[in-house]
Amino acid sequence: REWNINDAYIKNSKGEKIVDFKKSNLHVLNYSVPIHTKLSLQELLPHLHSLPEQPTVIPYRTSYYKENWGFCMTHNQLINLQDDEYEVVIDSTLENGSLTYAEFFIQGESNDEVLFSCYTCHPSMCNDNLSGVVLLTEIAKCIKNIKNNYSIRFIFVPETIGAITWIHQNETNISKIKHGLVATCLGDSGKFTYKKSRQGDAEIDKTVINILENSKMEFKTVDFFPWGSDERQLCSPGFDLPIGSLMRSMYGTEDFPEYHTSNDNLEFINKEALRESFEKYMEIIESINKNYSEKYMKQSKGENKNKIKSEMYLNLFPKCGPQLGKREVYRNIGGQNNSIETRKNEFAIFWVLNLSDGQNSISDIIQRSGFEESIIRRAIKILIEKGLLKKIL
Ligand code: ZN
Repeated sequence: REWNINDAYIKNSKGEKIVDFKKSNLHVLNYSVPIHTKLSLQELLPHLHSLPEQPTVIPYRTSYYKENWGFCMTHNQLINLQDDEYEVVIDSTLENGSLTYAEFFIQGESNDEVLFSCYTCHPSMCNDNLSGVVLLTEIAKCIKNIKNNYSIRFIFVPETIGAITWIHQNETNISKIKHGLVATCLGDSGKFTYKKSRQGDAEIDKTVINILENSKMEFKTVDFFPWGSDERQLCSPGFDLPIGSLMRSMYGTEDFPEYHTSNDNLEFINKEALRESFEKYMEIIESINKNYSEKYMKQSKGENKNKIKSEMYLNLFPKCGPQLGKREVYRNIGGQNNSIETRKNEFAIFWVLNLSDGQNSISDIIQRSGFEESIIRRAIKILIEKGLLKKIL
């Protein structure tokens, strides 16, 4: 369903708006169902979200897959709320509608494609969202009149559901994609971080790492992990596209405490950092075009055939990420800040789903995820119960 919102606020008994969506759209739990009611503080509290460890910021939270409503505020405001009767209004609608995405395509000498994707769904989030949109827009403008060996495609989609939709509508052409990057978190002044593709040694991986090494700047590389942004869909085992993600400070790490908060704003990013990111992306495009050769297309599949085949499972929904909330596999509130144990169990689920492609045994999953066998086995048990996985060996 499509969510639209006109207004939302909380008023105290004196009629003062103490939380106002019109001041910050982060104040509303995104996708909140409409509500208009009066509540005591005790009744209101379960619907309030804050970040105790960063008491002056408003967190960004969503509840896409479970009907809920809520407000986000600074922790300082939350702990100072008085016993009172509060009027709560969320003037929103959740109705059948449409999903909007944008696509821009530059035909090259060949029909082989390079795909750049970014997402457009986070409200008021500057680095973790808008920086990718801005960067890809500028790149598209710059290269649209240049003849490249590759055709180049840009997609601007709502994260997860938009990527899944786009893939679904373009499935017959997916095999044309030879390289790609997910563009996000590119405007802060932290060092570059490159998250490798699932393949790990694809040409895009070598190209990006080579360019970063030659730049003499400090940078980090991170091996593929099956959550994060839309590489989760693009690198799902049914597609396994050679797509990585070049960022600066990575989401969800201690380098980026502003992530999913009101501090990820225009002050957090700067022109110089965006310009450097832009240059890196342009160098990558140039290098990939230079390396274009017939050889690439003959790349043999099936080099992994000789893996040790012990106990093995198969992901029954290998194209993109199956909807886990609906199947009650994991928590329903999006955003950050859950206990480490819960997160670890979720990550184990992602690992099992991503690697259960008929090639990886349970020992491969344990080795690659770095998780203990008991956690991986628990994930397998849940996924089998929910009909998402089956034992094949
Ligand atoms: Zn995000």
